[in-house]
Amino acid sequence: SETVERHEFGAEVGRLLDLVVHALYSDREIFLRELVANAADAMDRRRFEALTSAASALPADAKVRITPDKAARTLTVSDAGIGMSKDDLASNLGTIARSGTRAFSQTLADAKPQDGKEDEKPSLIGQFGVGFYSAFMVADRVTVTSRRAGTDEAWTWASEGQGSYTLEPATREEPGTTIVMHLKEDADEYLESYRLDHLVRKWADFITVPIAIVEDGKEESANQGTALWRKAKSEITPEQYEEFYRSVGMNFDKPWATLHWRAEGALEFSALLFVPGMKPFQAVEGERESKVRLHVRRMFITDDAKLLPSWLRFVQGVVDTEDLPLNVSREMLQTTPALAKIRRAVTGRVLSELTSRAKDAEGYQAFWENFGPVVKEGIYEDHERRAEIAPLLRFKSSAVEGWTGLADYVSRMKDGQEAIYYLVADDADALARSPQLEGFRARGLEVLLLSDHVDAFWPEQLARFEEKPLRSVTQGALDLSKFSGDAEAGEAPAGVDDLVAKIKAALSDDVSDVRATDRLVDSAVVLAAGGNGPDLQMQRLLRRAGR
Ligand code: ADP
Repeated sequence: SETVERHEFGAEVGRLLDLVVHALYSDREIFLRELVANAADAMDRRRFEALTSAASALPADAKVRITPDKAARTLTVSDAGIGMSKDDLASNLGTIARSGTRAFSQTLADAKPQDGKEDEKPSLIGQFGVGFYSAFMVADRVTVTSRRAGTDEAWTWASEGQGSYTLEPATREEPGTTIVMHLKEDADEYLESYRLDHLVRKWADFITVPIAIVEDGKEESANQGTALWRKAKSEITPEQYEEFYRSVGMNFDKPWATLHWRAEGALEFSALLFVPGMKPFQAVEGERESKVRLHVRRMFITDDAKLLPSWLRFVQGVVDTEDLPLNVSREMLQTTPALAKIRRAVTGRVLSELTSRAKDAEGYQAFWENFGPVVKEGIYEDHERRAEIAPLLRFKSSAVEGWTGLADYVSRMKDGQEAIYYLVADDADALARSPQLEGFRARGLEVLLLSDHVDAFWPEQLARFEEKPLRSVTQGALDLSKFSGDAEAGEAPAGVDDLVAKIKAALSDDVSDVRATDRLVDSAVVLAAGGNGPDLQMQRLLRRAGR
């Protein structure tokens, strides 16, 4: 009819759909997790919005309903959530909005299917989530009918997952979203309610919004919605903790750390937090803010409350408090002193867990390799806790194998050595080849080797550790002459002054000074930064940034 509008998908959606349909066949059951999570989020968002707008109050019996229809061969997931306007449908379901999804499709496109790594794909999906588009793993046609809460217009989005989708006006009695999947021939299993029930228990048991499976008009509740964090530790098995971890962060690995405690007294809250065992893409490259979920008396409020500083953004889990009203608004989240106290307490607890786990070098290594670069951001972002973060840092070094910390470095310092030396470069290779190290090696002076991109920024901020200043070896004015070693620190050979003067004349426009140095052993020349100016790597970064 005339009211049907046809639109082309964004190019990236086309590519993602192709991958979803063809590459992920074996993991396709996760489509239900993705749709149910979206539905539950939409209901949480509606409840939250209702605090400021009466138009969108969530009905008391609101549920996510999963309805298989064998005769029609459809599976329907409907919710009473916030809903989507016509524009929302076009932008949320017609383009790839999230950087995570884009990166996921790139990663999959780069992975060669024949290299025997098929079994790594589930964890890839777990990390990125393909979201709504995963419906096309089981369906060859999907319709989405939605009405935005607070409006009375409804629209239907429909697509066969190939190049285009349509939008047309629809009717829907109440706000919310209904997704109808016309199942592929080989997807019959998703018409069986026992199978659906199993999947909800597996993937969505801890979602606190009620989920029901509807068969012959009867609703069976499928999730327990247990607030695991409210139970006593002694009542929880390790398996339950792991299941919860998997559902809260959509993870597939085991947590590296599980922190579960209850604060009583002036401030009351329960917290159940995890440090992942693997590096989730989002935590490091994507989102910059902590996504730890805030609940008030079990009820989910928001994952936007920044309960942890961004240098701990890889921590996942839930904080549930008595000390906020249920109708806490966004503005209140910014300003209420109770939340500031909770943030402080939760951050302190995570920090002390890391501090104690850092004593076990082997166990800590796995953590450091995943999240070290993020933790280093804390040195320049979190002035208040800088002194507590510094002992958590680990480095490669010119003197020892594996990882080492600042305290260990200090304990190895030579007599008369006043500073902690470090060198920053783009990667481990550049560090190993660097002529900057020659003089230090020859004198048995240890240098910390830094190659994360944050390394250009934090050492100056930290400035000192146990009273010892941190000094970049590329900064010009270091005098090594008092340390003897393989390199004989004698008089400069005759003629050097002449040579230096000639080079200086030739390069006069390009350098501020040319000096004879005792810092080299094999190489003829090396670049150094001016005594008080920024370190060389910092100068490189500034140049790249066009400063
Ligand atoms: P993600 O949920 O991870 O952002 P999706 O592809 O699953 O990615 O969904 C894209 C967007 O579409 C969501 O962020 C949300 O804004 C919207 N959306 C999806 N499902 C629903 C729903 N059931 N109700 C309301 N909005 C939805």
